[in-house]
Amino acid sequence: MERIYIGMGSNLAEPAAQLRSALQALASLPDSRFVGVSAFYQSDSLLPGQPRYTNAVAALDSQLTPLDLLDALQAIETDQGRERLERWGPRTLDLDILLYGDRLIDEPRLKVPHYHMHARAFVLYPLAELAPADLRLADGRLLQDLLAACPFAGLERLPPI
Ligand code: ATP
Ligand code: CA
Ligand code: CA
Repeated sequence: MERIYIGMGSNLAEPAAQLRSALQALASLPDSRFVGVSAFYQSDSLLPGQPRYTNAVAALDSQLTPLDLLDALQAIETDQGRERLERWGPRTLDLDILLYGDRLIDEPRLKVPHYHMHARAFVLYPLAELAPADLRLADGRLLQDLLAACPFAGLERLPPI
């Protein structure tokens, strides 16, 4: 089993309910064990004119290969009504593989660590709730250093329900 962190996001059709539904689906993945989820966070969209996002990070232990996991995550997105109309458009559900054990993956369909996670507060702060304090990404960067360079500003941590 390898420890995997998955970034979750939604800004359509009741985002928090979308994330809860996706968590159920993650907990049902084959050859995998659900480990936990961060609090939910809200923030404005990086692109103007879109509804606010709700984001969280989930941790999973899995024996699925990275590409099998990506297929499974994309199937969950589709099940929950994800439509791919425009790049970075609003979506009912987005599931990104942030980290997969200590693997560095550079394939056409899959880059791990996720290429933009270092600059995204809505990824780093929920990840820090779940990950060991001394977490080092497979490319050598320390989570603590990434957090120190990424202001919390604009992020709203929602109370647990
Ligand atoms: P961003 O990648 O900037 O967060 P996005 O999540 O909106 O944008 P999508 O349209 O969901 O982008 O995904 C586009 C493609 O990214 C997917 O089809 C997938 O093949 C690829 N991809 C590459 N690396 C990853 C990863 N680590 N996790 C999920 N998808 C990835
Ligand atoms: Ca994404
Ligand atoms: Ca995605």
